[in-house]
This record gives sequence, C-alpha cells and structure tokens, in this order.
Amino acid sequence: AEELVRKSDKLATVGQLAAGVAHEIRNPLTSIKGFLKLIERDPAGSKQYFSIVNSELSRIDLISSQLLVLAKPQVEKSVPVDVDAAIRDVAVLMKPQANLANVSIRTHSDDGMKYVLWDENQIRQVFMNIVKNALEATPVGGTVTLMTKSTGDEVQIVIEDTGIGMTQETIKRLGEPFYTTKGNGTGLGLMVSHRMIDRHGGTIHYDSIPGQGTRVTVELTRIGKSRGGLTQGNERNYLVNS
Ligand code: ADP
Ligand code: MG
Repeated sequence: AEELVRKSDKLATVGQLAAGVAHEIRNPLTSIKGFLKLIERDPAGSKQYFSIVNSELSRIDLISSQLLVLAKPQVEKSVPVDVDAAIRDVAVLMKPQANLANVSIRTHSDDGMKYVLWDENQIRQVFMNIVKNALEATPVGGTVTLMTKSTGDEVQIVIEDTGIGMTQETIKRLGEPFYTTKGNGTGLGLMVSHRMIDRHGGTIHYDSIPGQGTRVTVELTRIGKSRGGLTQGNERNYLVNS
C-alpha cells in the first residue's frame, strides 16, 4: 500500500486560485459565445446547440457553487458536533447516488464519544466531497465504507472504497485546485475539503492501490463535550444499505 501523510501542505494562494477560476470559467464562456454566434447565423438549424450552451452554463454554475463554500467567513458557527451523527447524515445524503451507481454504503463506528468543534454543515460538506469521490471511483457491485473511531485526543474518520484506486502521482496532486482526472470533474472538491480540515487543525491522508481501492483517513481534534445520547458498551454497527 502506498501512503502519503499530508497536512494540507499544498494549499493554493489566493492568486493561484483566482487565476484558476478565471481560466475554468472562461472556457465554457468562450464556448457559449461561439455557439451563440452559430445560433445567430442560422437560428432555424441550430437547435442542437442549445443543449451544449445549457451544459456549459451548468458547468459554470457548478464551479461557482463549489467555490462559494470557501467564500464564507473564516470562522463559522463552531459548535460541538457529534461526528457519528454527521457521518450517518452523509451516508443518508449520498445514498441516492450510491443506489444509482449500484454501490453499497456501509457505516461502522466504535462506541467512543466523538465530538469535534465544527460548523455542522461544513463537516457534512467535507465528507460528502470525499464520499462522492469514493462513489465515483467504485464500479458496480462495490462498497464504500465509512468508519469512525475515537482515539484519545482525536476522532478518526476513514472512508474506504473498492474502486479504481490512484497512483502515487495522483495522490501527490490531491487538493490542487482544478486537478481532476474526470471528464466532467471540477477538481475543486478536495481543495475545499483540505482547506476546511486544515482550518480546523485536522489532517487527511490517502492510502491507495491502483485497481483495488482507496482509503482516506481524516483526523480531527476531539473535544470532551458529552451531550448524552451516545450509548456506551456494545460496539455499534449500522448498515445503511441492505
Ligand atoms: P473531481 O471529483 O471534480 O475530479 P476532486 O478534488 O474531488 O475533484 O478530486 C480530484 C481527483 O482525485 C479526482 O479526479 C480523482 O482522480 C482523484 N480521487 C479522489 N478520490 C478518489 C478515490 N476515492 N478513488 C480514486 N480517485 C480519487
Ligand atoms: Mg470530487
């Protein structure tokens, strides 16, 4: 297994990011302009161009909505968040996409308390980005497993998939803005996730074997806040997918 520990060491500067955004938005804009010209010249024969213009607009929409996540104030409403509950939410939210791809999602948790100081929506966003990648990498019949563990000062969240895996070259570039190996990818999901994890003093690392799968491990600072509701004793297993 290949391993790379990273502490979000490749965070892009604002300038790099702005250049990337301008570039990524200019491409679909140029294409929209071109097709509008064609439509103008031959309004009757240009019906097929509308769907291209439409999908280019959707792409700009997607890029800007992913970037808006970053535009929020540095310090969000940080409250004690139950990581197990957040991960269960993520599994439920991602289930429709998993069903469509014929991939099952499993969650597994040890019985420790797992509170972290985060914005509740942000933490879900971070793990949705990671789980989405796992689903997109996993062929029909595969499994994505979300595991949480309480280890002293840390909460560990592991997202494992039985997907296509990554080369060491790809792993090195994760979190770079606009780095994608997908035809329709934006390469923004991990940049946003790495930044948020970094902002909260957490770490993320990847173990992957091409052709076999990937394991993403996130470690977040645990807080001692107990809010009741978490059972002690038996190890809890819950299966989201049947
Ligand atoms: P996008 O999903 O739009 O490509 P991301 O920032 O989410 O952008 O991911 C960047 C790249 O990281 C992906 O294009 C893919 O090559 C790689 N990647 C991330 N997670 C996985 C995974 N679980 N399995 C295989 N490749 C992955
Ligand atoms: Mg992604």
